[in-house]
Amino acid sequence: MIQTVRGIITKEELGITMSHEHLLLDLRPVRHDEVSIIDDLELVSGELKPAIEMGCRSVIEVTTVDMGRNPEGLRELSKRTGINIITSTGFYLKDYHSDWLQKAPVKQLEDFFVKEITVGIDGTNIKAGAIGEVASSEKIYPSEQKVLTAAARASKRTNAAVFTHCDMGLLGLEQIDLMLGQGMAPDKLVIGHTDLTADADYQTEILRAGVNLAFDTVGKNNYLSDETRAEVLMRLLEAGWEDHLLLSEDVSKQTYLINYGGRGYTAVLGYFVPLLCAKGVGEVQIRKMLVENPARILDR
Ligand SMILES: [Zn+2]
Repeated sequence: MIQTVRGIITKEELGITMSHEHLLLDLRPVRHDEVSIIDDLELVSGELKPAIEMGCRSVIEVTTVDMGRNPEGLRELSKRTGINIITSTGFYLKDYHSDWLQKAPVKQLEDFFVKEITVGIDGTNIKAGAIGEVASSEKIYPSEQKVLTAAARASKRTNAAVFTHCDMGLLGLEQIDLMLGQGMAPDKLVIGHTDLTADADYQTEILRAGVNLAFDTVGKNNYLSDETRAEVLMRLLEAGWEDHLLLSEDVSKQTYLINYGGRGYTAVLGYFVPLLCAKGVGEVQIRKMLVENPARILDR
């Protein structure tokens, strides 16, 4: 089963899925700018519409508690648009960590994650269907280490998938060592943002650990062109890693939205997938990255 903000669905119902996304968030307390908030349900519904028309059926929404997560807003968005939304439990980079988190022992964080997955979030009946995006900065700070450890242990208890944030795509191997060291299942772990490195050798080493890898910054051409991103991804596909790759856009501020001149939630289906197809990537491989892999990883 897969837990969405509107209840349980089967893995066959998931369909085309963006695997690391933000629909509602507020990063202004740390970023101190005016573009790092997305909170307008009407606007986001409109942004989702073209993606849905292109076939998108589900979004894994990895906004953590401390990124301005809004489960009731997500439920309302799901009602308005019909899209499946999987919300997450988790904490982000150390700069976002509260005093409570800084002081909490690992066990308390682990129990908090398990409660949000099995009982509900903030007294609502909305349950988290995944853990994420748990993060590391340019190094793994002590509070980040606690969160990653707790996430791995909570995954072991609930079978929930864990989605990570690797700052600038780095420290994926260190995250893996730490989290698999806690005994979580490798196939439940999705290492995020390593597409920013354009380093297929590094990514191959990550995949050899048995975990999954998300090309989840598609459309962020200011960091890395989709052309290069596609070439690196094709190296991994040619090496046979198609069962462990996922795609997404990680829309994290207003300027990525269509209303502000970006590609929003259509960067994968409207631009990147056509680019891959033009380069000769087959339908079966595309389907695995968009449908089968996220369904298998989320299912518990
Ligand atoms: Zn993200």
